[in-house]
Amino acid sequence: MLAERFAALRGEIERELAACGRARESLSILAVSKKQSLAAIREAHAAGLRLFGENYLQEAAEKFAPLRAEGLALELHFIGHLQSNKAAKIAALADCVQSLDREEAATALERGAERAGRILPVLLQLNISPSERFGCLPAEAPRFAERIRAHAHLRLDGVMAVAPIATDRGLISAAFEEAAKTFALVGGTTLSIGMSGDWREAIRAGSTMLRIGSALFGARPS
Ligand SMILES: *Cc1c(COP(=O)(O)O)cnc(C)c1O
Repeated sequence: MLAERFAALRGEIERELAACGRARESLSILAVSKKQSLAAIREAHAAGLRLFGENYLQEAAEKFAPLRAEGLALELHFIGHLQSNKAAKIAALADCVQSLDREEAATALERGAERAGRILPVLLQLNISPSERFGCLPAEAPRFAERIRAHAHLRLDGVMAVAPIATDRGLISAAFEEAAKTFALVGGTTLSIGMSGDWREAIRAGSTMLRIGSALFGARPS
């Protein structure tokens, strides 16, 4: 059951935070609901989760339009690869776009946010992993952050990154440390690092938001 998995995971997360001398409120959990059913999302909401992450525009729109129509309190974060031709629709749908990784996509999001008459919170997606195709290189992040901030309808809240796929925990920690260092340069309130398999390393590196899929919902249906 999701509620039991969430309770157990939250307990473990709180123990890790305490071990790091960190307050419970310094970290939020985004439930990554890609490929999960509407029923599973409702279950997660009933268990107390309020932040949800989706990777695909169409799927996100189909599942979250009805939930919003019901007036359910929640935030939808877009965490998938940001295609420029879908950016306008994503800018109108999402409460936050975490996967902003290049100028072309920033321009497209800006246009969409302006048309929707809103200020869109975004995170700069960093590439800290050779196994990850997308993301802005850390060395280029401060300059890209300036460019994002030049857009009137985007609000840059911090950075997001995906760790390398590695069995060496030290490699994962080193990548997260690099993300934290870059976050300090970029500024903002949100360091979105840590998934089901690497949230401990992420908390130790200073994560303020974990993105958890399978550890909450169970394995994704294929
Ligand atoms: C799928 C996904 C997650 C969640 O992955 P789990 O390993 O299931 O926790 C987190 N972040 C991004 C960007 C994802 O695509």
